Amino acid sequence: MRLQGKTALVTAAGQGIGYASVLAMAAEGAQVWATDVNEKLLERYAGVPNVTALKLDVLDKAAIGAVVAKLPALDVLFNCAGVVHNGTIEQATDDELLFAFSLNVRAQMWTIQAVLPGMLAAGRGSIINMASVCSSMKGLPNRFVYGTTKAAVLGLTKSVAADYVARGIRCNAVCPGTVDTPSLGDRINANADPEAARKAFIARQPMGRLAQAEEIAPVVVFLASDESVFATGQAFTVDGGITI
Ligand code: NAD
Repeated sequence: MRLQGKTALVTAAGQGIGYASVLAMAAEGAQVWATDVNEKLLERYAGVPNVTALKLDVLDKAAIGAVVAKLPALDVLFNCAGVVHNGTIEQATDDELLFAFSLNVRAQMWTIQAVLPGMLAAGRGSIINMASVCSSMKGLPNRFVYGTTKAAVLGLTKSVAADYVARGIRCNAVCPGTVDTPSLGDRINANADPEAARKAFIARQPMGRLAQAEEIAPVVVFLASDESVFATGQAFTVDGGITI
């Protein structure tokens, strides 16, 4: 078991990539605290070995502190929470930008601030931040707010990696291409012609298909494990060829 004896906290674990990553880490022997703002979604963890489900809204700094205070020192933090806004810079509103920065970036700062003291005391820790190929890596049409905030995640990741590289803490980012998750389905269904919208998402993926969340989770497991012990400050791209 590649994560035997490790403890992990995952945000936005109720569905999609967060959910698949919790199951993959638990299957490798990690003790995982799976958190989400939506308690209903967490019911799916009932009876899953090695997983404890907890409600956590990552927009609530005090709640993050309270949850982390209840847990043993953590080996792994997977910051998966994030939101996608559609639109160009002409369409973007101040509220959208502020909300996306709060959820996609500031929440990662808050959770890292909460877990770092324990990781530093133990002299080890792996922090994994959810970014996207839509970031400083690649501009995608109609994703101004999203791409801006996910680029910030890469900056945040490298900054944390640089500050703690000599103290046993690693910090990396994961950059998926298009993944067929519930929120992607919602965004597709919000279009006047959902079938055409799905085709357009598939068309931008050179492999001719979307990823499944289970195809992103192995990278999270790798970064959580000691197999990646020499990797820090990096963006791990799993994108079906979108950035070739
Ligand atoms: P999703 O968007 O379908 O689910 C998101 C989860 O986040 C939900 O369970 C929701 O309840 C939870 N959540 C929302 N607000 C929260 C909050 N304030 N506190 C805690 N949890 C909250 O899942 P997904 O599509 O796998 O996306 C997960 C992450 O992966 C996001 O950061 C997203 O930007 C990123 N990502 C997704 C794709 C994709 O194509 N799906 C591609 C690249 C990156």
